[in-house]
Amino acid sequence: MSEEVSTSIAERIAAWTDEVAKVDPLAAEILAAEERREQNSLNLIASENYASRAVRQATASVLTNKYAEGLPGKRFYHGCEWADSIEQLAIDRAKKLFGTDHANVQPHAGSQANMAVYFAVLKPGDTILGMNLSHGGHLTHGLGANFSGRIYKSLHYGINRTTERIDMDQVREMALKHRPKLIICGASAYPREIDFAAFGEISRECGAMLMADIAHIAGLVAAGLHNSPAQAADFVTTTTHKTLRGPRSGIAMCKAQYAKALDSAVFPGLQGGPLLQQVAAKAVALAEANRPEFKQYGRSIIDNCQALAEELLSRGYHLVSGGTDNHLLLIDLRANYPDITGQQAADWLERANIVVNKNSIPFDQRPAAVTSGVRLGTPAITTRGLGQDQTRQLAGWIDEVISSNGDESLLARVKQQVLQICEAFPIP
Ligand SMILES: *Cc1c(COP(=O)(O)O)cnc(C)c1O
Repeated sequence: MSEEVSTSIAERIAAWTDEVAKVDPLAAEILAAEERREQNSLNLIASENYASRAVRQATASVLTNKYAEGLPGKRFYHGCEWADSIEQLAIDRAKKLFGTDHANVQPHAGSQANMAVYFAVLKPGDTILGMNLSHGGHLTHGLGANFSGRIYKSLHYGINRTTERIDMDQVREMALKHRPKLIICGASAYPREIDFAAFGEISRECGAMLMADIAHIAGLVAAGLHNSPAQAADFVTTTTHKTLRGPRSGIAMCKAQYAKALDSAVFPGLQGGPLLQQVAAKAVALAEANRPEFKQYGRSIIDNCQALAEELLSRGYHLVSGGTDNHLLLIDLRANYPDITGQQAADWLERANIVVNKNSIPFDQRPAAVTSGVRLGTPAITTRGLGQDQTRQLAGWIDEVISSNGDESLLARVKQQVLQICEAFPIP
């Protein structure tokens, strides 16, 4: 997919990789090719985004050189004056933005943030109740192959077959019957708003703690466009690279009473030295997310997703739950293209430079490597500046690609149109 890019972008890529090119031309060419791929494709992967140049500059900073085991003011290494400053900045901004009592900004990614919560308050064999992966949950919410399903006794709730929304009656029934120690809400492929207050009530009723994993929706929560879990949940975890648009990393937050247990679970429980360059980039991203423009960005993500949904619905597609409230939607191909798999659709789209991911849909008969669904999200194209008109156009191309059964000449024609949009809306 490494086509030509405009001269100005080519110059930018060369400037960004010049030092690598001097010592390792092969690696530099791979980095440049990836940047050309990103510039030349429309990214509808719901969990991806384009971090700002400010965020990327922070990730490339000298903080990568520094060890800082411990916490600000309580380090096991010397020379941590500026490490302390940057980490404290990130902590304070995270607490303020999400309205939590406490934040630990050291988890390397979302999975590590979740692991830290479990290690803070659970013992092996304790019962956890999370959302079924095939209904939109995450690996770390108790999948058998994941540490969470191997260490803990994990149970799953799912969505209601008719409404295709989270079955809150089932959540309550399971919670009262099995008395889990921890209830987990939050999802990776759920297009509707999650009712954190309702989860909070159920947790209190059955005596469980509640963890809200807002990895996908953190940017929408920060922008005030999705209800916040800060009151209802004992723990709030997130990634920082999805709608929040920061570096690839994680944050774990909690109510004051769990602060010490959570901090010790991260270090020395699970990690050694924090990746301070990522911590610095988290601080920058949190500052960006606190600005008024970010609220507008969140609004545009949702508007674009609505436009995408409307256009696909008008072309006869079935979307799980009938639409979307947030940044993503799920096409259930079984409704009108029962012979096309999620894998095939995603492959064809990639050949037209539209990057999506296949995704299991609720009650999917096909294995996770094949699937009957496609997940589409608008955070990345919205960062590029695409508006509702371009998004509707994009929905049309997606329909043409799928309904043509992957016709080669059609894919080539759509790709030319995608390249024109990419050139008009470069990655900032
Ligand atoms: C993406 C995601 C994670 C984990 O993210 P990684 O950074 O890939 O470890 C955790 N929970 C949910 C709900 C997610 O969507």
